[in-house]
Amino acid sequence: MSWRKILDNHTSTGDRLTPEEAVILYRDAPLQSIRRAANARRIQMNGNEEVTYLIDRNINYTNVCTINCQFCSFYRPPGHEENYTQTVEEISQRVKELEQIGGSRILMQGGVNPELGIDFYTDLIKSLRKLHPSIDLDCFSPIEIEGISEVTGISTLDVLEILKGSGMHGLPGGGAEMLVDDVRKNVSPKKGSPANWLKVMAEAQSLGLITSATNVFGFGESIGDRIEHMRRVRKLQDESLSQYGNGFTSFVAWPVQLENNVYGRRNRGRNRLELGAGPSEYLRHIAISRLFFDNIDHIQASWPTMGLSVAQMALLGGADDAGSTMMEENVVSASGTEKISASENELQDVIVRAGFKPRRRNSRYELLETPSPNTNLEDLAAPPPSQF
Ligand code: SF4
Repeated sequence: MSWRKILDNHTSTGDRLTPEEAVILYRDAPLQSIRRAANARRIQMNGNEEVTYLIDRNINYTNVCTINCQFCSFYRPPGHEENYTQTVEEISQRVKELEQIGGSRILMQGGVNPELGIDFYTDLIKSLRKLHPSIDLDCFSPIEIEGISEVTGISTLDVLEILKGSGMHGLPGGGAEMLVDDVRKNVSPKKGSPANWLKVMAEAQSLGLITSATNVFGFGESIGDRIEHMRRVRKLQDESLSQYGNGFTSFVAWPVQLENNVYGRRNRGRNRLELGAGPSEYLRHIAISRLFFDNIDHIQASWPTMGLSVAQMALLGGADDAGSTMMEENVVSASGTEKISASENELQDVIVRAGFKPRRRNSRYELLETPSPNTNLEDLAAPPPSQF
C-alpha cells in the first residue's frame, strides 16, 4: 500500500497503525505530510492551546557502573580514580536548590554500582522523603533495579516494592535505548535484554509507580528496528493499562550523542553520517511516534539533544510537552551535549513563540499553578509602526 493511502485511511478512520504501515510512512511519506497528521492527532488527544513542562532536577548519584555501554561517556568502572557516589547530604542540598525554584520532582539515576546494597537505596529514599516531602522521587532505571536485584538476591519485583515502601514515586524509563535484541547486543552487550527492561517496567506499573518510555535511536539500526521498539512499548502499554490501569505517561525519544564515547570513535568515518539523527529525521521520528502511540497520552520534545529551536518545531508536529528544566545532567552531556539546563523562562519562551500557553505540570502530568510568561505573543506579533 502507498504511504498516501495509509495516511488518508489513518487520518479519516483513526484506526491503529500496524507496524508495517508505520514503516512505510516512516520511509516514504513527505515530512510535512506526517507532521500535519501528527499535529492533528496531538490536537485530538491533548487540545491545541497548552504545552506542558516540568520544573525538576536530574541527579546522577553515582557514576560507578559495570555495564560499559559503548555510547556512554559518563560511567567509570569500579576502582577508577574518578569514581563518585553522592551522600544523602549532597543530594539533599541539590533538592533544596530545586525547591527554591519551585520544582516538583527529582529524576535520580546512576550507574549499576555493585558496591551499593539495598540499605543504601532505602536510606537515601527515606531520608529524601522526610527532608523534602513535597518533591516527587522518580528514581533509578530498570537496569539499576536489575543490578540491585543481582547484588542482593532480592527479585526485581520485591526491590521495587521495597523502594516504593520507602517513598519512591516513579521509575523513569532510562536505559531502553533500542528494545531490539540485535541492536542492543551491538551497543550494550552487558545490559539487560529488551525483555528484561519491559518486565521490570511491567512490574513497576503493577505497583502503581509512575513510568515513562524512552527511546535512543541512531545506532545504525533500520527503520523496521525503530518501529519494532515502538511496537514493544505499545504492546506493554496495552497490557498494563488493561491489567493495572497504569502505564507509561509519555514517550520520549532522542538521537544518540556520538562525541567522547567508544561508539562514536569506533564508527567515526565512513559510517558516521548514518549514525545519530539530524533535525528532519528527529522530527520524522516524533511525528511517527505520535501517530503510532494511540495508547500513550503524551509525546515529549527533547531539547537537551536537539536544542530548543528543534524542540519547538516538534511541538508543531506531534509533541505536546517541552520536557523539563533538568538543572543539571551528566549522562547525555558527557557524550557531547553542551546545554544541560533550561530555565523556566526559556521553556516558556519556546512554548509561547510556538503559539501555545505554557503550563507547569508534575510528573503525573497534573497541571500546576503557572507563573505568567515574560514573553507575550501579542507583543511579538504587533504590526510594524505606521511610519514604516
Ligand atoms: S548508560 Fe547507564 S548502564 Fe550504560 S554504562 Fe552508562 S551508566 Fe552504565
